[in-house]
Amino acid sequence: MSVIKIITFTTMDYDQYKRASKLPDVKTTIFTTVGNLARKHAALDLSQGFPNFKTDEKLMSLVSDALINGHNQYAPMQGYFGLREIISEKIVSLHNRNYSPEKEITITVGATQAIFTAITAFIRPGDEVIVIKPAYDCYEPAITLNGGVPIYLQLDAPNYKIDWTAFKNKITKKTKMVILNTPHNPTGTVLTKSDMEELERILKPTNIILLSDEVYEHIVFDGKPHESASRFTDLAKRSFICASFGKTFHVTGWKIGYCIAPAELMAEFRKVHQFAVFCVDHPVQRAMADYLKHPSHYLDLNNFYQEKRDFFLDGLKSSKFKFKPSLGTYFQLLDYTNISKEEDEVIVRRLIIENGIASIPISSFNVDNRNDYMLRFCFAKKKETLEQAVEILCKL
Ligand code: PMP
Ligand code: GLN
Repeated sequence: MSVIKIITFTTMDYDQYKRASKLPDVKTTIFTTVGNLARKHAALDLSQGFPNFKTDEKLMSLVSDALINGHNQYAPMQGYFGLREIISEKIVSLHNRNYSPEKEITITVGATQAIFTAITAFIRPGDEVIVIKPAYDCYEPAITLNGGVPIYLQLDAPNYKIDWTAFKNKITKKTKMVILNTPHNPTGTVLTKSDMEELERILKPTNIILLSDEVYEHIVFDGKPHESASRFTDLAKRSFICASFGKTFHVTGWKIGYCIAPAELMAEFRKVHQFAVFCVDHPVQRAMADYLKHPSHYLDLNNFYQEKRDFFLDGLKSSKFKFKPSLGTYFQLLDYTNISKEEDEVIVRRLIIENGIASIPISSFNVDNRNDYMLRFCFAKKKETLEQAVEILCKL
């Protein structure tokens, strides 16, 4: 009879790797931590940003057609050309800017990879990158991994407006890049034309690259436009603009998006892209190319989510929460100071365990985890889910 010896490793064995970490302070993301706790306690989950309604049958059948039609091998490194072509047409019609499908559009594994790739292509040790806080969590680790230094501009509740003079004061000789996100996760603010013009004016005399995270480009409310960086000539010239089909077509699990930039910037981006992923899921790219032929698939999104926002906020009128309606994205911040003075991470935990509802604490997006007494709720949910959420939140 053979005896299997079970080998166990001690913490000592791993200490050397811990010391070698390039991201010693990074923990598992708040979305994973809160999501796990929500599942453990079977809580209603309005934390991580993803829809809980069904994906369009038409889109799913386009993917299965692509599989059956044999598009099962590598796509071109830059992405399926037909998809890049239709993206280019979409940008012309929405923002009146021409991006060459050949040289200026690359399909990526979601916006996350686009952001990581753009940062990696340009940030060297010691380069400064201005990050406006609160900020989505994937920017800083990418900067740090490349030896860059995040320089923060912390915005204040409840309006989270950018003070452009304070922004300008953050620029130094070392500033290589600025990261912008509009519509903004987690605050739901949307930059106006005059914000973008101000940014354009400030960056004009510099060589600073703009990384514009526009994943919620089609979720803007109250008839307002999405002021893409591509609309502003001097910004477009220096910008990587990142987009996500996951967000736009309710398929966050498919991890597909794209990046656009002028040819000179995109050439550098592709040098990294080709070795990080080479290319993206081929059948899904084919399906997206067909699906994008109908602009209603993305143009109807503003109203679709505005109805959800309004339904959620109507229900919360009788609650103790204070709020300013989200202007874009599918997130709503709720101020809980009339309910409790707890730290936001504490109340998030308690609401999951005791009340069965999950949200995201805004401190996880702020500099030094500052607490703004705000919780972020995702309203990309079925009506029944929003009704249940309202019922729980109104009892607090
Ligand atoms: N940027 C922001 C602001 C986000 O909220 C997200 C989350 N989806 C991403 C980027 C990443 O997008 P993707 O899922 O396409 O990688
Ligand atoms: N964008 C999503 C959010 O803000 C999270 C996606 C993720 O977990 N990486 O909730």
